[in-house]
Amino acid sequence: MSNNTLDINEFHWMMDMLQTIDVGLVVLDADFKIQVWNSFMENHSGLSPDKVKGETIFDSFKEIPENWLRKKVASVFLLKNRTFTTWEQRPYVFKFKNYRPITGTAKYMYQNTTFIPLSSTDGTVNHICMIIYDVTDIAVNKLALNQLNTTLENLSRTDQLTQLNNRGYWESCLNSEFERCSRYDTISSLIMFDIDHFKQVNDQYGHPAGDEVIRQVASTLKKLLRTTDIAGRYGGEEFGIILTDTPAKEALVLAERIRTEIEALLVLTDEHKIKFTISIGISEISLGLTQPIDWLKQSDVALYYCKENGRNCCAIYTSNMKNLPS
Ligand code: GH3
Ligand code: MG
Ligand code: MG
Repeated sequence: MSNNTLDINEFHWMMDMLQTIDVGLVVLDADFKIQVWNSFMENHSGLSPDKVKGETIFDSFKEIPENWLRKKVASVFLLKNRTFTTWEQRPYVFKFKNYRPITGTAKYMYQNTTFIPLSSTDGTVNHICMIIYDVTDIAVNKLALNQLNTTLENLSRTDQLTQLNNRGYWESCLNSEFERCSRYDTISSLIMFDIDHFKQVNDQYGHPAGDEVIRQVASTLKKLLRTTDIAGRYGGEEFGIILTDTPAKEALVLAERIRTEIEALLVLTDEHKIKFTISIGISEISLGLTQPIDWLKQSDVALYYCKENGRNCCAIYTSNMKNLPS
């Protein structure tokens, strides 16, 4: 065989191989008319080569977005370079049903498609070849993995009793907010609160009732917070809320609403009706703070102040407040 000619036997072998190969092969001319259609394409589309040859691909496959394909193919003709599209960019080019029993979750075959320019003997490109790979298995696994990762990520961020952010994740939000405020010189506030005499709730009504109280505090919070507020369960019956771009005075308004809602709340268990209150410490991020923990400590000092001054109240941190007992 010389470089440019193909032995007739080899040509037949080649055609046989192309027919039976487990990828789709389609050759289009410059008018998008189908010239080659292998058995993969026939089997999955149900259309024989006789049916589609000479037809434009858009007439035979209405689902293919014409503008998109024209653009894609134009660049192959122009640059004489191959290009491709993956299932992540576009799940499929040809809408073929997915028949695989194992990957039954996918309705349609996911495809990666490569577009190759076909040069004529004179070097001009008048045809392109599309190679269609069935990547349903890979796509389904990848999608399942992504979903699992999202679930795991949520689980690792979420406190199971309250469905609020857990301490670890909430603290990482606090760190980010601290950095953001330092960099952009904006004002945010931090609320810390703690249920009053919670030991008594447990002692009097039992631990499960105590858990229900904690749960209902969390649902009350969710009702009152704005989407930009970041609430977390900091400890057993301690909660923190990061209020972005909010001065302490505004934070106090929200804190008072939370406090009064909780005061009015009646938690009903099978045997008991439970009333309780909370104490709330607030502090605004201020210039002198060098690390997030100092911000947290300020709110804690304000919270301690409330505990010392009758509980069921809110206080904004000031520097003359008594420090926490060590
Ligand atoms: P204070 O008003 O000073 O806050 O009094 P307090 O009794 O609430 O004291 P403190 O905040 O120190 O008590 C916390 C108690 O909360 C201790 C612990 O037994 C209980 N607790 C912590 N985590 C949980 C939980 O997940 N469920 C229940 N039911 N109780 C918890
Ligand atoms: Mg406590
Ligand atoms: Mg308490």
